[in-house]
Amino acid sequence: MFPASFEYLSVTSVDEALAALLEHGADARILAGGQSLIPAMRYRLARPAVLVDINRIADLAYIREGGGALQIGANARDFAVEIEPAINARYALISDAAAVVADPIVRQSGTVVGSLCHNDPAGDWTVVALAARAELTVRGKTGNRVIPIDEFLVDSYTTAVAEGEMALEVRFPTPGERTSGSYQKIERKVGDFATAAAGVQLTLDADGTIVAAGIAIGAAGPTAKRVAAGEALLVGARPSRALLRAAAAEARTISDPIADTRGDVEFKREMAAVLVYRGLVATLARLGQGEPA
Ligand SMILES: Cc1cc2nc3c(=O)[nH]c(=O)nc-3n(C[C@H](O)[C@H](O)[C@H](O)COP(=O)(O)OP(=O)(O)OC[C@H]3O[C@@H](n4cnc5c(N)ncnc54)[C@H](O)[C@@H]3O)c2cc1C
Repeated sequence: MFPASFEYLSVTSVDEALAALLEHGADARILAGGQSLIPAMRYRLARPAVLVDINRIADLAYIREGGGALQIGANARDFAVEIEPAINARYALISDAAAVVADPIVRQSGTVVGSLCHNDPAGDWTVVALAARAELTVRGKTGNRVIPIDEFLVDSYTTAVAEGEMALEVRFPTPGERTSGSYQKIERKVGDFATAAAGVQLTLDADGTIVAAGIAIGAAGPTAKRVAAGEALLVGARPSRALLRAAAAEARTISDPIADTRGDVEFKREMAAVLVYRGLVATLARLGQGEPA
């Protein structure tokens, strides 16, 4: 199907984008990679009267480290994240996910920030952002707001970005020396959305005690979910198999998926726990620890 007709505006600066958003209000939508918005328009699930194309804002295509964080601008493509040496060296959770988001063709256009703004229940980047405790910078007519990811993800396809605002960047705290992570995803075939997914990030102290934990699951409800009870079990404890199993079981408890062609509810809930457990074991291995007894 063809999209309903719309006005197309290509902007070259953030100020221009904001002016267009303010002028057209709820009728306007930002076009980033278009990998979610254009299909939604073709199915008439979205009918924006005005598209504000931000792809020509060159200074939003950055991926850089600074201020204790990895900063990914709104026009940075998934493929650029996938091949970025700093990410592959220091951000294991992000690096894992970058290789399994959609397929290589979609990753040429799709953006991390666009994916977070889209907030698909089965999206990969929302899971990563929760586990890594990312935050987004959003700009509107009164200036910038910094929004932690837990507040940014409001409901399926709904975020804290208000009318007249746009997201400028996402920031992932730079992992310290004893921090690593893992992204685990089950998909029916390459390029598919997750049947179930889990993101894990752990920080150990010199004795091997877990001092910080991030656990999130995807395709497990209206939005990606933080497994807060699992995180609480881990922090302050030394890893044991029983502990990891208990933390993973918390994922099963909060997982609330829909049954669809990818699997039934019980299968997906079980997979949430399995993937969290695998993510914890993989993370510990990256931190030089074998699977605990
Ligand atoms: C075949 C296929 C398979 C896919 N598989 C997966 C998958 O396995 N996992 C996965 O996570 N995703 C998957 N996707 C989605 C893909 O990753 C999208 O690229 C991504 O979800 C949206 O990013 P985008 O840059 O294309 O955003 P767009 O489609 O341009 O925009 C998406 C939404 O976000 C808004 N938006 C975008 N940028 C901003 C901004 N800076 N500020 C405010 N609002 C903004 C838009 O207005 C729109 O509402 C798939 C897509 C396709 C076509």
